[in-house]
Amino acid sequence: MDYLTAEEVRAWQPYPLAPDGVTPRKRARRRMELTGQWAPWQALGRRMAIGCVALEITQRCNLDCTYCYLSESSEALKDIPIEEVFRRVDMIFEHYGAGTGVQVTGGDPTLRKRDELLQIVRYIKSKDMRASLFTNGIKATRSLLEALCEAGLEDVAFHVDLTQRRKGYNTEAELNAVRQAYIERARGLPLSVFFNTTAYPGNFHELPALVRFFIANCDVVRLCSFQLGADTGRGVQRQRVTVSAETVLAAIQEGAQAKLNFGAASAGHSACNRYAYGIVCNGRVYDFYGDPAFVHKMLAATAHLKFDRADKRRAVATMIDFLLRNPRLLAGFASRAAKAAWSGRRDLLAAKGKVGKLSFFVHNFMDACQLDRERAEACSFMVMTPQGPMSMCVHNAKRDDYLLVPAMLKKEHKVMFFNPVTGRLQADKPDKLAVTVTRKNARGRAGKTSQTSAEHISK
Ligand code: SF4
Repeated sequence: MDYLTAEEVRAWQPYPLAPDGVTPRKRARRRMELTGQWAPWQALGRRMAIGCVALEITQRCNLDCTYCYLSESSEALKDIPIEEVFRRVDMIFEHYGAGTGVQVTGGDPTLRKRDELLQIVRYIKSKDMRASLFTNGIKATRSLLEALCEAGLEDVAFHVDLTQRRKGYNTEAELNAVRQAYIERARGLPLSVFFNTTAYPGNFHELPALVRFFIANCDVVRLCSFQLGADTGRGVQRQRVTVSAETVLAAIQEGAQAKLNFGAASAGHSACNRYAYGIVCNGRVYDFYGDPAFVHKMLAATAHLKFDRADKRRAVATMIDFLLRNPRLLAGFASRAAKAAWSGRRDLLAAKGKVGKLSFFVHNFMDACQLDRERAEACSFMVMTPQGPMSMCVHNAKRDDYLLVPAMLKKEHKVMFFNPVTGRLQADKPDKLAVTVTRKNARGRAGKTSQTSAEHISK
């Protein structure tokens, strides 16, 4: 394995804008080709310019997960000004264009002022990008979700699992009460609902049952995503032991009681992301990607189509219109649909024709001390730093380099600098930013020692 050295990690820079004439998609395709990831199942560079971009609007969180990716400095930092958040949204648009998925995240983004959170979602929507809220759900009330929907939010991803150490919950099965409450909060809203679960040795044995829970709730839940706990950030737990992408894929299929094809479509590096798509009928899961060759044909033929994911009817109409203009693909599609309907006829009858869908996703983050060069170069999950997008895994290995920096703002024709340690605007650019992590603001590993500090010399 070709791991980045410590010097290479330090020297790794955010991506600059593509040169004129190079479209975001062309650039992504070039990255896939150079890293050996260009293949018929590759959506990056074909359908999309990037998987998604994380927009961290706060570093604060009201939980302390044992595998947290945040920096030990996080809780000592003030939220970046909203003007700086808008500037980063502009950069996401300049790099990847309309339709890009923007993860509004943190820390927990609901800790930001409600009005600011709404403004941020509205601004993303105004750029014709897709806003998703990534939250532990504690402060994501029904009223907040409703207001966010009005502002243009399209997805909400709830992170719930045992690594969060929520009081009174000792098993994933017990945590289903929390998940169920979140499902009810989102029910009926025009949102795609996702659940994120960290897969680690402490809950690995419960994953099949958890998958069954998501299947039973697929009338609301659209995607269940499993992230492998990694040795990164401030988290106190670092080991994977029995948990690998392969064992998690097996656990998902055990829970779904179905063989799912996790290789028919992907975005980015195959060692990072694995994705399967299930059709659910009468509680039984059918693999939508059962015929990979046909999936690849459709992926290539529909790469130019723009689906309005916020308007399902319009998305379906786009697909029908396309198929009607392509009779061969229509015939292939119809014969496969008819075959699937015949093999699932008993379930269709029992469910009175009601069919749901549920996607399964496995994200295999890298350990900060073992960053595979090829995967970092093929990364499909960026975080927007003050200087541009950067692979999330590389960013996680040196978060303070992008947190302990002043943000330059224009205020009434004057240039000012936001100091993230004091939370104040100042006329001079600070030379050095340093935080002291005290008992009060210590989380994760910092909580084990009484005092640590981090500093950064501004360039
Ligand atoms: S490099 Fe890391 S963040 Fe990027 S896609 Fe791979 S696992 Fe995800």
